[in-house]
Amino acid sequence: MATLKSSVNGAGSSVAIIIPSKPASLTVTYQDLLAECSSFQRKLAAIGITRGSPVSIAVVNSYEFIVSFLATSWQRATAAPLNPAYKQDEFEFYIDDIKSALVLVPRGAYAANAPSVRAAKRFNATIAECYWDAAKKEVALDVKDLGQLKGAKKSAVLDPQPDDVALVLHTSGTTSRPKVVPLTHRNLTRTMKNIQNTYQLTAKDRTMLVMPLFHVHGLLCALLAPLYCGGSMVVPSKFSASDFWQDFITHGANWYTAVPTIHQILLKNPAPSPMPEIRFIRSCSSPLSPTVFHQLEEKFKAPVLEAYAMTEAAHQMTSNPLPPAKRKPGTVGLGQGVEVKILNDAGDELPQGGEGEICIRGENVTKGYLNNATANAGAFTKGGFFRTGDQGKKDEDGYIIITGRIKELINKAGEKISPIELDNVITSHPAVAEAVSFAIPDELYGQDIAVAIVLKPAAKLTQEELKNWVSEKLAKFKIPKKVYFTEVMPKTATGKIQRRIVAETMQKQEA
Ligand code: ATP
Ligand code: MG
Repeated sequence: MATLKSSVNGAGSSVAIIIPSKPASLTVTYQDLLAECSSFQRKLAAIGITRGSPVSIAVVNSYEFIVSFLATSWQRATAAPLNPAYKQDEFEFYIDDIKSALVLVPRGAYAANAPSVRAAKRFNATIAECYWDAAKKEVALDVKDLGQLKGAKKSAVLDPQPDDVALVLHTSGTTSRPKVVPLTHRNLTRTMKNIQNTYQLTAKDRTMLVMPLFHVHGLLCALLAPLYCGGSMVVPSKFSASDFWQDFITHGANWYTAVPTIHQILLKNPAPSPMPEIRFIRSCSSPLSPTVFHQLEEKFKAPVLEAYAMTEAAHQMTSNPLPPAKRKPGTVGLGQGVEVKILNDAGDELPQGGEGEICIRGENVTKGYLNNATANAGAFTKGGFFRTGDQGKKDEDGYIIITGRIKELINKAGEKISPIELDNVITSHPAVAEAVSFAIPDELYGQDIAVAIVLKPAAKLTQEELKNWVSEKLAKFKIPKKVYFTEVMPKTATGKIQRRIVAETMQKQEA
C-alpha cells in the first residue's frame, strides 16, 4: 500500500537519522523512529487530531520535525510545514489559508510569545510546543493553549489510506499569490519511488540534508526518498557553510541535494582535503548555470545531476541520469517516472526542438489546487497533462532544456527572450558571480532587458564590457539595455531567485 506509513523501509537496527547538534549528536535507528512516530501519533489522537485535521509544523529541521510530520500523516491528518522564520503577518497568511487546527512551535516559543504563537492565537488554533526532551528521551507534544480543540473528542489511532491528503504546501509564489497544493500519500510515495530509481538509492546511502523541510525539495528528496530506501540522513538545523564538510565527513554522508545558491556558497569556501567520496551531487529548484556545473564537478570530484521539480508534482519531474549515462549541463535531463510533453498554445505536441510549454503527467502530480477555481481552470490539458507554466524544448536525446517561465519571458517587440539563456551567458564572464535578467518596461519595444549582477570579490566590470561580452555570444537584440550592479541578490528562504522581486528591488534601489 502506498502510504507514508508503509514506506519507511529501513531494517530495525540500522541508522535512519543523525542529528549532529553540538555538544552531543543524536543517532536514531529505524526501530526507534517508528516507535517514536507511533507514540507521537497517540499524543495527537489524544488531543483530537483526526482525519483531515490541518497541522502546521513551524519548527526547524530536526528530529521533532520528522517525527511530527510522519505521525501527522499516519493519523490521516494533513501536515502543513511552515518556515519557522516567518514574521507574524506571514504566519497569519498561511495559518488562515490552511485553517490550521494545531500549530507546532519550538520549545520556549509560547512563553516568548513568538510570531508563530501570536498568529496561531488570532485564529484560535491549538498551540503546542514540540521538541526533543533529552531527559525523557522522547519527542514532546506540550500543549500550551487548547484553542479550538478544547472539548474535542479524543480520536482513535487511525491508519492512513493512499488517497488521504498527507501534505499541503504553498507554491513559492514566484508568479502570483502562493497557491495551495494538496498532496496525497499516493502522490508522495510515487515521487519517493521515482527518486529511488533515478539515483539508485539504497540502504548504504547517507545524505547530508541541508534544504529546509518546509518545501518539497528537502522533504521529498532528502527525507522521504531516503527513508523509502532504508538509507539515512545527517540533519543539521539549517545549512551552514562552515559546518557542512565537517558534518559530511564525520557522519559519513555520500551525497547531497541543494539549490544552486547553496552549491555556489560551497564553491566559495575551501574544499576539504582529502575530498570525501561523493556518489553524486544533485541540483534542483532553480537553473544551474553550466559554468557552476563545471566548477562543482571539478572542485568536488563528483557527477552533478541537475533535476527539475515543482510543488504540484510532489517535487521531481525530470533529472539528469547517473553515469555512465550522459549528463548534460544546461538541461534538466529526462522524465523520471513522469511523462513529459512540449505543447504549443493550441495544446498540440511539438516535434523535437520545438519550444513550448512543458506539460507533465504522472501519479505524483496533484489533482488540483485547494480553493482556487481560477488556477485549476487552466491547470490541466484535456489529456490530463499538468501545465507547468515553464517554457522549454527537448534536445536531440530528449533531454529537457528549460528556457524560462512563460510569465517571465522577456517580450521585446514580440521577440521572446529567455532570461535563463542570458543569465548563463553573463555568469560565464570571469568577473561575474551571479546574474539575473528580467524585463523592464520600454516605450519603443514594450519590454526591454535588464540584468542585475553581483561581481566576484575584487572583480571589476563596466556596463560596456558586459554588453560587449553578450554581443560576442548572442544576437544583438538580446544585449541588456540596463545593467544593475548589486552587492547581494534578493532570494527566497529556500534560495530561489524571484525575477519579479529582483526587478522591484533593483528599480527601488535606483530610485
Ligand atoms: P508559483 O507557482 O507560486 O509562481 P514557483 O513555481 O516558484 O511559484 P515552486 O513549485 O517552488 O514554486 O517552483 C517550481 C518552479 O521552479 C518550476 O516551475 C520551475 O520554474 C522552477 N525550477 C525548478 N527546477 C528548476 C531547474 N532545474 N531549472 C530551472 N527552473 C527550475
Ligand atoms: Mg509554479
